[in-house]
Amino acid sequence: MRNALSTRLDAELRRIRAADLYRVRRVIDGNHGADIVVDGRRCINFCSNDYLGLAGDPRLAVAAKRALDHAGVGSGGSALISGYNAEHRALEEALADFTGRPRALLFSSGWAANLGVLRGLLRCGDAIVADELNHASLIDGGRLSGADYRRVPHRNLAAYEATLGDLAAAPGGTLSLIVSDSLFSMDGDIAELPALRRLGRRFGAPLMIDDAHGFGVLGEHGRGAVEMSSDSIPDIYVATLGKAIGAAGAFVAGDEDLIEYLVQRARSWIFSTAPPPAVAAAAHAGLRIAREEPGHRQRLHANIRQFVDGARRCGLPLGQQAGEMSSTAIQPLLTGDEARTLAMSRGLFERGYWVAAIRPPTVPRGTSRLRITLSAAHRPAQIDGLLNALGEVWEALGSESEPA
Ligand SMILES: *Cc1c(COP(=O)(O)O)cnc(C)c1O
Repeated sequence: MRNALSTRLDAELRRIRAADLYRVRRVIDGNHGADIVVDGRRCINFCSNDYLGLAGDPRLAVAAKRALDHAGVGSGGSALISGYNAEHRALEEALADFTGRPRALLFSSGWAANLGVLRGLLRCGDAIVADELNHASLIDGGRLSGADYRRVPHRNLAAYEATLGDLAAAPGGTLSLIVSDSLFSMDGDIAELPALRRLGRRFGAPLMIDDAHGFGVLGEHGRGAVEMSSDSIPDIYVATLGKAIGAAGAFVAGDEDLIEYLVQRARSWIFSTAPPPAVAAAAHAGLRIAREEPGHRQRLHANIRQFVDGARRCGLPLGQQAGEMSSTAIQPLLTGDEARTLAMSRGLFERGYWVAAIRPPTVPRGTSRLRITLSAAHRPAQIDGLLNALGEVWEALGSESEPA
């Protein structure tokens, strides 16, 4: 029986397939890490957000097991009703302490945190001034809030200034919130946080930063994007615990009123079961390691340098959409073409290297890319091996995208 839904699904799936945009999941067996078993094949993982190599660290598992023995699995309710466990509270306190903010509020995911914050804080008549390459959860949260969503060209400070000036001149004294990723997830570049902060002060616009890829990684102590400059502390700081910290979940850090308001109004937090206490315990252990063992960050940075230097020597055109090189763990190799990106990713997988092909809608049309991510867990020989394999597949497939 055909109905409107099945007709639509069939047409859309055909269209997605024909455009080389069809996506499939690969199955991991065992630990996440630099060495990984994917679809039954052992390979080296260069497409993970596990930047410090903590996802498979046995100490996180030990912390989770201890909490499982003490608290069981389910939290039993939303945090406001009956699900708020001592493990959650201890983690929130540690996160507030580490970020140097008065309070932190734990969410079950970064997606939920961004939706809860934007939908909770903003209303019709308010405005969001946001980088065009912000994460999808910030875009959806912004839409859900009903605020006027103003997309600003990527890291374009003049455009921020013009948009904020425009909004400030409008009658009625609305709230304008500047919203940006700190470290952009598909390009690896970093927002101009001190400049955004200064613009915000000038126009009375608070700043919200999503530090999903910076937390645990950036700054000498791993405190993230805010550690890079004393003038970049945002009013609203969001970071996740499923990337460098190696567990799952996310948090919002800020002052007392912000957190108390979110407890009253963030719907994705209020109407959602609190995460299992064991997950909070694992994140707490990951945070402790990220904080106390700078060696992981140092190894990550050495690995990034080795990769970037090697890619330069091989003539691989690494670089962002903006045309700059990335100095972070996220290294894009733009091919621009969906089919070619897929073929390169397949070629790498055949050689034992797992690198994801990133295509629209994750990135804008015409900017498909291999997104290579480095981890503290990679060994130098693995990075050299990847460079060789990349050189081979680029020669075979990628260089067609070079302008003649
Ligand atoms: C991964 C990510 C999120 C979502 O976090 P989850 O905990 O995976 O839901 C939000 N923002 C950015 C920038 C991200 O990269």
